[in-house]
Amino acid sequence: MQGRRNPSVGIAAFIYRSAPARVVFGEGSLRHLGRELEMLRMKRPLILCTPEQADDARAVAAALGEAQPSVFAEAVMHVPVAVVGAAVARARESDADGLVALGGGSATGLAKAMARELPLRILAIPTTYAGSEMTSIYGLTDGGEKRTGRDDRVLPATVLYDPALTLSLPAPLSASSGLNAVAHCVEALYAADGNPVVSLMAEEAIGALARGLPEVLRDPGALPGRERCLYGAWLAGMALNVVSMALHHKLCHVLGGSLNLPHAQTHAIVLPYAAAYNAPAAPEAMAAIRRALGAQDAAAGLHALGRALGVPKGLRELGVRASQLDRVADLAASQPYPNPRPLERTAIRELLQQAYEGDAPLPAQ
Ligand code: NAD
Repeated sequence: MQGRRNPSVGIAAFIYRSAPARVVFGEGSLRHLGRELEMLRMKRPLILCTPEQADDARAVAAALGEAQPSVFAEAVMHVPVAVVGAAVARARESDADGLVALGGGSATGLAKAMARELPLRILAIPTTYAGSEMTSIYGLTDGGEKRTGRDDRVLPATVLYDPALTLSLPAPLSASSGLNAVAHCVEALYAADGNPVVSLMAEEAIGALARGLPEVLRDPGALPGRERCLYGAWLAGMALNVVSMALHHKLCHVLGGSLNLPHAQTHAIVLPYAAAYNAPAAPEAMAAIRRALGAQDAAAGLHALGRALGVPKGLRELGVRASQLDRVADLAASQPYPNPRPLERTAIRELLQQAYEGDAPLPAQ
């Protein structure tokens, strides 16, 4: 992927696969839900959400009038198999002919897991910046082990982005979820299977989020910042869908799975250190990040953005103990996967130490 923006190098060979989802974006687009369900021929959708968003889901159901859909409000983080089983049973009971996921990655994740077991399509209404609604990636937790995979059946058919629905997303959650989206873009920029189109989307998304997130923090009730963030989240989700993620996502997956850490906050903390680790091997990606952030150094710029957004300072603040990092480094370095810089156990352990302490990332050695 190096040299994509360098005219003397030309364009590297690539494969681009676009996802078929229909996207409806804009303030108030929730009012088009009835029309969109009709287009999908969904008459009895089951609405999925977390317990915290049960009232919102019921309001959405009520607004659909006569054909009031049922609500299953038990989605939780990391999609436990037991919850999937209960939701599938509810869908069968209510003779559901489609799934509406209202919420963040947890609600969407539940819909995705169900779509692997039932022949039902998904309409997603995202209310965070996680971007799961644009991907065919699913996750499941069973007995403390998180499994992820790709399956075209789980990709939502329609996504309704209404920035007004994100106004209630608390500022800290907005920040960590938005930085999660930035993380997808950073790794998309240096992905082994990246391409110029994805790089355009990723750079645009980082710019939109880096501008929108501080606006959201300053005034969580103002729409323009929310619009920019949701637009960035959409692009970030598309980028995540078409390329493979690397060291950063592997580290967060291991940290989340083995230490049960909050997903978005873990991403927000680890990102600058993963970028610093890969910087020497991904100069074009770092240049795109610098341009998007208006920063002199990509990793330092990402760290400054996180600090400005009030992200917890380091893994230490999430309750991680330094003694747990050796095993995380072992796991992250144990299986090979594409990463711009070779996976070096000692350097990864050092990266984790820096992420634990939370100071500005040191340039890679
Ligand atoms: P989440 O869905 O777990 O939501 C966090 C909390 O915020 C929940 O209590 C939820 O009810 C609440 N909430 C959501 N939107 C709100 C709003 N607008 N106002 C008030 N409260 C709101 O968080 P998330 O960060 O969106 O998703 C995290 C999960 O998504 C993780 O399990 C992660 O693995 C997964 N994920 C998957 C993909 C993928 O492509 N498969 C991509 C990104 C994240």
